[in-house]
Amino acid sequence: MAADSEIWLPLSPTIPRRRVVRFHAVAATGRLVRAACGGVADLVLPPSCPVCRARLGSAGGLCSDCWQKVLFLERPWCERLGTPLPIDLGPGILSAPAVASPPAFARARSAVSYEGPVPDLVHALKYADRTDLAPMLGAWMARVAHELVADADMLVPIPLHWGRLASRRFNQAALLAHQVGRLTGLPVATRLLLRTRRTPRQVGLGLDERERNMRGAFMVPAARKAMLAGRQPILVDDVLTTGATLEAATRALLAAGAAAVDVLTLARVVAPR
Ligand SMILES: [Zn+2]
Repeated sequence: MAADSEIWLPLSPTIPRRRVVRFHAVAATGRLVRAACGGVADLVLPPSCPVCRARLGSAGGLCSDCWQKVLFLERPWCERLGTPLPIDLGPGILSAPAVASPPAFARARSAVSYEGPVPDLVHALKYADRTDLAPMLGAWMARVAHELVADADMLVPIPLHWGRLASRRFNQAALLAHQVGRLTGLPVATRLLLRTRRTPRQVGLGLDERERNMRGAFMVPAARKAMLAGRQPILVDDVLTTGATLEAATRALLAAGAAAVDVLTLARVVAPR
């Protein structure tokens, strides 16, 4: 695993050095406090399901009711987009959207459908400091990633803008990428791709608006392009909704010399079948 600071605060040339040091100190203190309180909390409060709060025998999982509501994505799926297909027509089948509007990335795979208890899990990870969920969620992702991993050189988490990183204190995509890296042996490159500007939140925006929103939002610094030349990275994010963010990040990696880019997310929005 890379240095812890890379998970919590990927460096950006836009961050003044003094501010970086201060954020590192705050993040480190927060982790120490949580680590210290976590042990006490386990003694006082028994482990509970992160979705419905039902009591559990051990920490780090879901209760059986919530577990049964998680929809794991399985074949048959579109080889390009990873979206479920209603019937199995054999290997290499593409969905209509993949043919009509092919994405810049080569293949996308997601572990679960963004429904049932999954939105609550993502919310808990991102906004409620439930970083203890990352090992379970990363294991779900590694399970679905094996065909991408076989061809890949590295995992590249979607970066947060440093301003958003400062308020959230960690990058959930980097946390997930490190868990996948731990299970697959792939290195995690957290400083390869940078966010050039803070983009408005995507919630409620249509595909065209999201694409406009994200255009040119990522770049690879010139000094790091050599790390990418001819390589095949896997972009990692928490949720694939319209794909606009991953599309923009893919274009930045391809423009910087990547041979091909695959995409791995914890969840994806799946249209009702
Ligand atoms: Zn539950």
